[in-house]
Formats: sequence, C-alpha cells, structure tokens
Amino acid sequence: MGDLDAGTKAEVLIEALPYIRRFWGRTIVVKYGGNAMTDDLLARTFAEDIVLMRSVGMRPVVVHGGGPQIGELMARLGKEPEFVDGRRVTDAETLDIARMVLVGKVNRDIVSAINAHGALAVGLSGEDAGLITATARDPKLGFVGDVSGVNPAIVVRLLAEELIPVISTIGSDLAGQAYNINADTVAGAVAEALGAEKLVYLTDVEGLLKDIDDPGSLLSSVTAAELEQMMGDGTISGGMIPKLEACVRAVKGGVGHAHIVDGRIPHVLLLEIFTRAGIGTMVGA
Ligand code: ADP
Ligand code: MG
Repeated sequence: MGDLDAGTKAEVLIEALPYIRRFWGRTIVVKYGGNAMTDDLLARTFAEDIVLMRSVGMRPVVVHGGGPQIGELMARLGKEPEFVDGRRVTDAETLDIARMVLVGKVNRDIVSAINAHGALAVGLSGEDAGLITATARDPKLGFVGDVSGVNPAIVVRLLAEELIPVISTIGSDLAGQAYNINADTVAGAVAEALGAEKLVYLTDVEGLLKDIDDPGSLLSSVTAAELEQMMGDGTISGGMIPKLEACVRAVKGGVGHAHIVDGRIPHVLLLEIFTRAGIGTMVGA
C-alpha cells in the first residue's frame, strides 16, 4: 500500500467502516488449514488479519487442521498408513502422533504467530474443559471421532476476556478416550454452538467450483438447499465434502453466513470481512 496516494489510502480505510460497525462484538469462527498454514508469508498475514479483527472489536475464534503435518511426522517415523475398505485407520499410535502434531506443534505455531502482536491468543484442545465430546465414527477405523457435543463455555470465557481461542480438533469421550476429528466439522459445530455471525473456511482453491477442473466456474453465492442438491450429484468430492456439510448445518443452525475462501491469497480474511469485494463462495440459509 506504500505506493497508493493518500486519498486512496483513506478510501480503503473508510470502506472498512460499515463492516467494523456491523461486526463489532460478533463472533467469527475461522477454520485455518491447507496451504495457508505451511507458507510462512501466508501464516504471518493470517495472524495479522486475526489480530486486526480482534483489535476492531470482533471476536475471532480459530479452529485449525493439520492433516499434511500429521502425514509428514508419520512418514518421518516410518509409520505406514493403514486402510480398511479403502478408509484410513487411526490406531492408538497414529492418534498419539496426530495429537502431538496438532496440539503440540501446529497449535503452538499459530498461537505464537498471533502473540507476536500482543498477549492475545490461547491454545486449546477440544479435550480442554469438555469443549468437544466425541464418539467413535466406526470402531473399525479406530480413534476417528464424530462430534457428539460442544460445550463452548471455555471459549465464551476466553472471548469475554478479549482473548483469541485457537482450537485443535482432538475431542474426548466421556471416559476420557481421545479421538481425532475432522477440523471442518469441528469448526462448523463450534460456530453453531457459539451462535457465530460468520464461519470462514480458508482452503487451497478459489472456493466452491461448479467444475473442479475450471477455476472460472467459481460459485460466488449458494444456498444450503442448493448445496444439498449438489452434494448428491457428484459436483463435490474429497475435502470439500466435510466443509460444505458443515456449512449447511451451521447456517441451518443459526450461523449468519458461511464462506469458503482461497487461503493462498495473502490477507484473504481481511478482504472477505472488511471490503465490498466478493471473494470466494458465500453460503446462506
Ligand atoms: P483443506 O486443507 O482446506 O481442508 P482439502 O484438500 O481437504 O483442503 O479440501 C479442499 C479440496 O477440495 C480442493 O483442493 C479440491 O481438490 C477439493 N474439491 C472437491 N470438489 C470441489 C469443488 N466442487 N470445488 C472446489 N474444490 C473441490
Ligand atoms: Mg481438509
């Protein structure tokens, strides 16, 4: 922005004013994952955006994934992924690795990047203070969990203290057994439990594409009903499925809007929240 003239700089700032007023005191859940997490510049701009949101009175909550980082440590430890009926199995050792990477490394890195700007972020695992209760998805798949309940009390308390919760998606059952849970699913469930204004997914594509091979086929706005129809017709596959399922649930459950945006764009969050530019895909009820 160094090369913009003063008038343009002022205009850019003023464009943000209605959004700052509208979202003051509102909760915005951001799921952080994919590319945006492994690139240093993008990790830094993500932390700046989160801090800026907090600084103008919004209440950001970060939920993060870490699939690639888990895969990387498994490879380093020489642990081969196991499959049953084509589906990946999370045995006790894999769960330990996932928990170490998510809670011990990825979470810490995000907290540190945010806290370079002030004492703001607090890392949590879904196991903390009963935040995420989980049940086994299918005993054959080991310790992969589904969300059976969210108790957002700890998050509400941190937000009331003007802190920024950063959540790893390990949940536990009533007996204290830990499960690895899909971060997209957790982000949606947390947004719903908090009555969030927005749920934003940072991913590694432009947004929801009508044709996965055509970046020009971005759908800038869809309703939950349209998504449910697309879910049945094969338009959506792979990692986009849990995101869109979570979006549908969240907007039906009272979350204002859900967004899927391109985490490869520096400051994409800032662009989504503070400007008129429509970015990525917006999901409404
Ligand atoms: P993340 O780390 O953000 O969870 P994922 O790989 O799990 O990333 O999910 C995003 C991926 O979903 C995209 O890179 C793309 O390959 C896939 N995908 C499947 N169907 C679609 C679609 N219709 N539009 C966009 N992406 C899609
Ligand atoms: Mg994914």
